[in-house]
Amino acid sequence: MHAIIQRLQDCLGPAGVLFEKEDLAPYCTDWRGIFSGTALAVALPKTTQQVAEVVQLCRAFQVKLIPQGGNTGLCGGATPEGDDPQIILSLKRLHQIREIDLENQTITVEAGCILQTLQEKVAASGAFFPLSLAAQGSCTIGGNLATNAGGINVLRYGNTRDICLGIEAVLASGEVYSQLKGLRKDNTGYDLKNLLIGSEGTLGIITAGVFKLFTAPLGHYAALVAIDDVSQMIALLQELQRRAGNELCAFEMMSRESLELTIRHFPQYNRPIFTAGKYTLLIELANFEEEHSPTSTRVQEVLEGSLENYLVKGAISDAAIASSQAQVNEFWGIRHHITLAQAKEPGNIKFDISFAISKIAGFIESTDALLKEQFDGVKIINFGHLGDGNLHYNLCAPEGASVDYIANHEKSLTEVVIAQIQLFGGSISAEHGIGQLKRDYLFQHRGGVAYQMMKDIKKALDPENLLNPKKVLL
Ligand SMILES: Cc1cc2nc3c(=O)[nH]c(=O)nc-3n(C[C@H](O)[C@H](O)[C@H](O)COP(=O)(O)OP(=O)(O)OC[C@H]3O[C@@H](n4cnc5c(N)ncnc54)[C@H](O)[C@@H]3O)c2cc1C
Repeated sequence: MHAIIQRLQDCLGPAGVLFEKEDLAPYCTDWRGIFSGTALAVALPKTTQQVAEVVQLCRAFQVKLIPQGGNTGLCGGATPEGDDPQIILSLKRLHQIREIDLENQTITVEAGCILQTLQEKVAASGAFFPLSLAAQGSCTIGGNLATNAGGINVLRYGNTRDICLGIEAVLASGEVYSQLKGLRKDNTGYDLKNLLIGSEGTLGIITAGVFKLFTAPLGHYAALVAIDDVSQMIALLQELQRRAGNELCAFEMMSRESLELTIRHFPQYNRPIFTAGKYTLLIELANFEEEHSPTSTRVQEVLEGSLENYLVKGAISDAAIASSQAQVNEFWGIRHHITLAQAKEPGNIKFDISFAISKIAGFIESTDALLKEQFDGVKIINFGHLGDGNLHYNLCAPEGASVDYIANHEKSLTEVVIAQIQLFGGSISAEHGIGQLKRDYLFQHRGGVAYQMMKDIKKALDPENLLNPKKVLL
C-alpha cells in the first residue's frame, strides 16, 4: 500500500478514502467506457480545508491528482492516464448549498452538488437556475464549472461561465483562492474566475461557486418541426429571435439518423413526426407574461404564427406543438436520449463543434458529401444546439461493418472532419472541453501563440504538474 493512503485516511477518516480495486473501478473509467486508467486511491474530502490538505499531501508525496465530479464528461478529462502515481479527488461529498440569497438573486454552492439537486432547491425557493443538460441527474456543478458546460438554455442564459459570479478553488500550492462576494461588476485586475472556469481541473480544484438566480418563467411552449433544409432552419431561428427576442430558450436540431438510432434503443419515443423531415427541430420559448388573450400568450402566438408561415411556404413539412408540460417533457426526452442511444452503439467518434451560424449549412453539406464519398456507408449522427451554432456531429460504423471499423478508420475520419472545421472557421470543442480526447489537436487548432500562453499559465500555477496531468495540454 502506498504511504499516502494512510496519510489520506488520517486526514479524511476511513470513509473518505477508497483503495480496494473494486471500489476504485467506477472512478477509473469514463462514462462512455472509452477511457480508463489506474489510481492509488480515491480521496473524498468533505470540506475545502480537507481538499487543501489532500493537495498538500500530494505535493509532499509527488502524487498526481485527478479532480472528478459526476464523471459524466465526454472527453476523458476525469479519468487517470499514464503510469505516474496518482489519486482521484472526488468532490462528491463536498456538496452543501451554502446560501440562497433571494435579495441579491444569488446562490453559493459547493462543487459536488448534483446539478439537478441545485435546480430543485432553487425552484423550491421560488427562483430559477437555468443551466440544464441531459446529464443533470449525475453531473456536478463543479464539473460544469470546470468544463464551462453549455446545455440547452445557452441561447437565453449563456454558458456556465455567463451565470457564475465567483468561485472558490484550491490551487496546486495548496492555497485557497476565494472570490465568493457575488458581485455583478468587479474589474480588479486579471479575471481569475474565468481563467479557472473551463480549465478542466488542470489549474485548480474548484470547491464552490456563486451563481446568478433568475425569475422563473410562467410557462414553456415547445414544438417539434420537420424540416429538410438547413438554410431554412437558420432562417426560422433568426425569425424567432427577431420576434421573440431572448424568450427563445432552445433551438435544437436532430437529424433523422439520430432519431432512428434513438428509437431503435428507446422505442417509447417512436413518433411519426420524427421521420417526416431530414431533420427535426425542437424549439422552446419561455413565457414571462400573464396571458394577453383569454386563450393564448404572446410567445405562443409568435411560435404558432412563425410555424404557420413556414408551413404555408413549404419550408417545413410538419409541426407539433406541445399541449401540456408533460408533452414538453416528452419532447425533451427524445432529445436527451440521443447521447444515451449513441453510447449503446459499438463504436463512434464524437465531434462537439461550433461555427458562426452562417457557416453551418455549408459545413454540413460539404462534410456529409466528403465523408460519404471517402467512407462508403459511414453513418453521420448529427444533432445539437443549433441556436448556439453547436453541432454534435458524430460518426458510426456502416451497417454490417466489422467491429474494428471505427478503430481502424478513426484517424482518417477525424482528419477529414477537423480539416473541414478549420475550413469553415469553427471550433473543435464547443462545450465538452479537450480532456484527453482532443488534446492532440489543440496545438494545430489554436496555433502556437495561444498554445504557448496556455503552457506558460499552467507552468506558473502548477509548476510540478500535479493537477490533472496529460489533460488539455501535451
Ligand atoms: C447524456 C449526456 C449529455 C450531456 N450533455 C451535455 C450538454 O448538453 N452540454 C455540455 O456542456 N455537456 C454535456 N455533457 C457532458 C458532461 O455532462 C459535462 O461536461 C459536465 O459539465 C461534466 O460534469 P461532471 O461533474 O460529470 O464532471 P466530470 O466528468 O467528473 O469532470 C469533467 C472535467 O472537469 C474536471 N473537474 C470535475 N470537477 C472538478 C472540480 N470540482 N474542480 C476542478 N476540476 C473538476 C475533471 O477533472 C474533468 O476534466 C453530457 C454528458 C452526458 C453523459
